[in-house]
Amino acid sequence: MIARADALATLERDEFDVVVIGGGITGAGVALDAASRGYSVALVERHDYAEGTSSRSSKLIHGGLRYLQNFDLGLVREALLERQLLVNLAPHLVRPLPLLIPAFDGRRPDRVLGVGLNMYDVMASDRRRRRGGGEDGGRRRRVDEESWSPDRHRTVDAAETLRLLPALAAREPTAAYLFYDCQTDDVRLTLTILGEAERYGAVCSNAVEVTGLVERDGRAGGVLCRDAIGGGEFEIRATNVVNATGVWADRIRPEELHREAEVPTIRPSRGTHITVSRELLNVVGGAIVPAGGGRSIFVLPWLGRTLIGTTDNDYDSADLDHVPPSGDDVEYLLDAVNEFFATSIGASDLTGAYAGVRPLIATGDPKKSVDISRKAELYETSSGLVTITGGKLTTWRRMAKLAVDRIVEREGRDAPCRTAEIPLGMDIDAAELPDVAGVDDETRRMLIGRYGHGAIEVMRIAGGDPALARRIAPDLPDLVAEAVVAARQEQARGVADVLLRRTRLGLLDARNLTAADAPGPRAVADAMAAELGWDGTRVARELEDWYAVAAAEGLAPGEPAASTAGPA
Ligand SMILES: Cc1cc2nc3c(=O)[nH]c(=O)nc-3n(C[C@H](O)[C@H](O)[C@H](O)COP(=O)(O)OP(=O)(O)OC[C@H]3O[C@@H](n4cnc5c(N)ncnc54)[C@H](O)[C@@H]3O)c2cc1C
Repeated sequence: MIARADALATLERDEFDVVVIGGGITGAGVALDAASRGYSVALVERHDYAEGTSSRSSKLIHGGLRYLQNFDLGLVREALLERQLLVNLAPHLVRPLPLLIPAFDGRRPDRVLGVGLNMYDVMASDRRRRRGGGEDGGRRRRVDEESWSPDRHRTVDAAETLRLLPALAAREPTAAYLFYDCQTDDVRLTLTILGEAERYGAVCSNAVEVTGLVERDGRAGGVLCRDAIGGGEFEIRATNVVNATGVWADRIRPEELHREAEVPTIRPSRGTHITVSRELLNVVGGAIVPAGGGRSIFVLPWLGRTLIGTTDNDYDSADLDHVPPSGDDVEYLLDAVNEFFATSIGASDLTGAYAGVRPLIATGDPKKSVDISRKAELYETSSGLVTITGGKLTTWRRMAKLAVDRIVEREGRDAPCRTAEIPLGMDIDAAELPDVAGVDDETRRMLIGRYGHGAIEVMRIAGGDPALARRIAPDLPDLVAEAVVAARQEQARGVADVLLRRTRLGLLDARNLTAADAPGPRAVADAMAAELGWDGTRVARELEDWYAVAAAEGLAPGEPAASTAGPA
């Protein structure tokens, strides 16, 4: 991405066809869609890219098996088709994941579930595919084209169940249904889409908050912004304004521009996830695990840890900026896991935890509130402001299309959507990476999954300084060099940006990274200091900020985050 200072100068100077408010997956998608149709595009994000819900998902690119229960067939079908597209557009970032629904005590898997999985298979396919499967991660080549698609579901025996879910050994499963969905890194997907949007000319900056709309002849003609770092205020002039602020969508609503009833009132619901080490709960594939209240949760392998979630409870606090996991939610997840795997994992075993909020439309009558978190909603208000909210990580492309189609339609342009054909980043082979002393195969694989072709640059930087070729956390593959890349190329401005969003270590190793004088945050701060010109006092302040964010986010449940021991 271009440097933030350069982006800011352009945003203040130029006039744009479209300004997008919000740098989550939806805003990123709108920027890519509009820019690739030939519009000049500006995008501003108040905090950091994907800092809202788009860094707090279950990381699944999926149809959502459980929405079948509600007969949300259109939604499931749409998401399955998007899954299919994304696994081909970004094969390094969106990967098939085997998921299991195990059966115990000599029983076969529930036939009703089998019927659901059959529907899932049928809805996922838009043409006949060759039979395949086996050790290829559920991918198989279509006969007619050079693309991949996940395999059909099947029943597997006890041995195969245990191979994919070794943590179930004590329960002696009889068999399981095996089906496929896809998994990603939500933030890296957002950053990759933003990178592609930039290639089409979009100008993006984080730490720029929209404080109001600019009115021209009663219409929204741009946005008023506050530079959260420099402190200045400025205007971005644009013919169209798209509000992609997710759960904050109803806050972009200056009363003089449009009537209250035109935009949704959001009542958020909190979803919590926890992570544990693979040694404690070893899963190679994902498991669907029954939980209290008739719900089910996912237990998934993710970036070297096991990810468990999610809950779904009303969130009453007005603070949507730092949403900590609640103790009750953590307990609920642990109860479900411990019962299912016959384990006794406690809160002190967790390597991390995080929570995010889904938007619900409040209608005034709580019984009538509508869950729009999975349904995309488009609103156009009298000012011409286009608001797009709800939806899923999986359906970002459809949501972006919906919003940009509306703009194209009202302008009477001939500009069809192109995002179904735009590759997101570029997959490479591990052999294309340079060798760097001390960097092992696990790291090389991880870097390709995260950056695709960009991994070559990470390795080049790591090769230039042995301190940068080191891991940030000893048992996870992320490199200190990634902090340099984040500051230099991805507009990262603080340690939390690197630990929570450029890498995901803050979710995976929070307990260690929030310990007093932990070496990981210090190594990240030092690497960023060299890049951003921080002195010792600034490094100390940035470290304090990391500990403060970790505490506010409740990353290490049950433990108040420690503090640093003074300046570098
Ligand atoms: C617990 C949970 C699990 C989920 N799991 C999945 C899953 O596995 N798969 C799936 O497909 N979907 C999942 N989802 C849904 C998915 O995460 C969301 O639909 C998606 O991330 C929403 O993206 P967004 O860009 O619309 O919102 P956000 O990511 O919240 O982005 C909105 C952005 O707008 C910014 N902003 C707000 N106000 C302003 C302003 N005034 N000026 C500038 N910027 C502003 C915010 O800082 C934020 O970054 C999950 C959701 C939750 C809550």
